Amino acid sequence: MQDISCFGMQDIRFEIGPIRPPSEAYSLLLRITRNCPWNKCLFCHIYKGRRFERRSVKEVKEDIDNAYRIAQQLRELSWRLGAGGEISREVLHYVFGHPYNECFRMIALWLHLGGRTVFLQDANSLVLKAQDLAEILTHLKERFPQVERITSYARSRTIARTKTVEDLKLLREAGLTRLHLGLETGWDPLLDYMRKGVTASQHIEAGRKIMEAGIELSEYVMPGLGGRRWWREHALKTAEVLNQISPHFIRLRTLMVLPQMPLWERIREGEFELESEEEVVREIRLFVESLEAESYLVSDHILNLLGELEGKIPEEKPKLLGIIDRFLSLSPDEKLNFCLGRRAGVYERLDDMEDLVRFNQVEELKRKLEREYPGGVEGAIFRMKEAFL
Ligand code: SF4
Repeated sequence: MQDISCFGMQDIRFEIGPIRPPSEAYSLLLRITRNCPWNKCLFCHIYKGRRFERRSVKEVKEDIDNAYRIAQQLRELSWRLGAGGEISREVLHYVFGHPYNECFRMIALWLHLGGRTVFLQDANSLVLKAQDLAEILTHLKERFPQVERITSYARSRTIARTKTVEDLKLLREAGLTRLHLGLETGWDPLLDYMRKGVTASQHIEAGRKIMEAGIELSEYVMPGLGGRRWWREHALKTAEVLNQISPHFIRLRTLMVLPQMPLWERIREGEFELESEEEVVREIRLFVESLEAESYLVSDHILNLLGELEGKIPEEKPKLLGIIDRFLSLSPDEKLNFCLGRRAGVYERLDDMEDLVRFNQVEELKRKLEREYPGGVEGAIFRMKEAFL
């Protein structure tokens, strides 16, 4: 392969925010606003200390133009490398093997995988006026007509209070296909305690509006959020709220608390008590059992212990409960083995424990941690989970 070094204008950039949902790992990330306009939830550290800012339509459109220019540069690079304008594996290796900036790398990977999905950042793109957001979406589709899916995070309260079904339809027609909402819980006292700034009825109103507008809806639920005191109410009321929405997707994202989160202090003071891994699984069991919504349950966050918990509700509920019961029927030692193996990346699913080589590998790690790690196996598991955030 000829060495053409870093062909192209590598100083072209566009702004990229800090996070995206796991399902958007290979999407083009386009920053519409900076940080979170609410920023008060006790269990969230991502935007703490950072001021919320709206980006102007002009600024975002310039970013889209820059992404387009990068895509053009990459296609030219591909021709020079003999790949005929395709972002082939060879072109991708070339880009990642040379000092191209992160925007070039993101676009290269995105185009290599088809360039069909875009995620709008940061925490709540729906704070923009519907017309402004529609203008951005239209420009995005003009520049990248191959895009099939455009998704974003949004807050239920913003949608319940400031968006009509017509506004949402306008956005759908302009290209918005899916919204990810952090429902977290459907129980009002817990929403209040966690300073989520939304009520269960606003969650229902927002969810129903999105469904009526024909936009795909993904609702995030946070197992563990009720702690030892409120786990039951949390499970039951969350299912009750979702039963009134029937979103396309219900996604689990288990609570994990870091010192940077305000909830940490409540734990330290003894006001909030975290559930054990097993207790969280029991809570999920009650939640799944209580679901009557027509929806698709997904457990695609690395913090979830049972990542294989995926299926259509209500049809596949027995299968899902079967997976949960399988874990719950393990002996205490086997449960600890699975928790450690899953967090250490040795296991993906319960079946993996059947593999004796892997099982023994985890047992060995367990013994080593018991002997040498100051916090023992539990402490080590916490550290591993911390690294996932
Ligand atoms: S609304 Fe979302 S991003 Fe904002 S503080 Fe709450 S959890 Fe974090």
